Amino acid sequence: MITLSWGSLAALIRRADVVVETVDARVPLNTRSRRLERLVETMGKPVIIALNKADLVPREVAEEWTRIFRGEGYEAVYLAAREHKGTRVLRKKINRATDVRPVVVAVVGYPKTGKSTVINALRGRAGASTSPVPGSPGFTKRPGLYRGPGQIYFLDTPGVIPPDGNPLEKTLRGAPPEKLKDPVGVAAELYKFIKKYNPEAFEEAYGFDTGEPYSFLEELARRRGWFYKSDHEPLVEEAAKALLYDYHKGKIPFYVPPGEYWR
Ligand code: GDP
Repeated sequence: MITLSWGSLAALIRRADVVVETVDARVPLNTRSRRLERLVETMGKPVIIALNKADLVPREVAEEWTRIFRGEGYEAVYLAAREHKGTRVLRKKINRATDVRPVVVAVVGYPKTGKSTVINALRGRAGASTSPVPGSPGFTKRPGLYRGPGQIYFLDTPGVIPPDGNPLEKTLRGAPPEKLKDPVGVAAELYKFIKKYNPEAFEEAYGFDTGEPYSFLEELARRRGWFYKSDHEPLVEEAAKALLYDYHKGKIPFYVPPGEYWR
């Protein structure tokens, strides 16, 4: 994961006509960046908030979130980019956001919110390859840009916002588990966070729950056969990382109800 400095993010946005901010539909307020939104606004460019991974939340919840963001004056759509659902609406919103043609789009967001998946889905068939190859449909003579359908071009560098906040917030914002100083502590906090919104989440995802984070991680390690060689105690740290990866992959069913911000 290569995050950009705020200086390079600003340089990226300067080249775009419209910015699509990807957020995770399970935790939209924790995965949006007000700092990014303000930066784009001061440059006088429109922001479209794309609530991605909408397949992980009920439709009414995704719809309510779009109303909340529109109430704040942002254009907002929900989509499930991995399933290519909702991309037509996003394309329409991009075209309506500006009169500039062709329109150059920057997709910006925290890690793991689905920027690459959104770009690929929006590009349609041309999105199969990840790098522009001369002569392919995705190739364009405009350097640094991918050609999408119609008059849409994408900056080939997604804007990756560096995850900020406390350790749990950083995790919600896509910080990779191996980069965390205390994965067990963070996994325990994430366990409590998720359980608050779906008490059955762990039972549903793993087929068991102990009701308490540390005993849950121990039991997960035991069931997976992860033990220290020295004393055969369960490898809690491995279990913690597995849980954090499963959260990122959307394997643990939960979502924050519309309008709720956790801190
Ligand atoms: P990026 O780091 O923001 O570029 O995010 P990626 O595009 O690499 O996606 C991060 C993870 O989220 C990957 O495992 C994707 O498969 C997954 N993902 C992306 N879009 C969706 C979606 O619409 N629904 C679900 N459930 N997962 C998605």
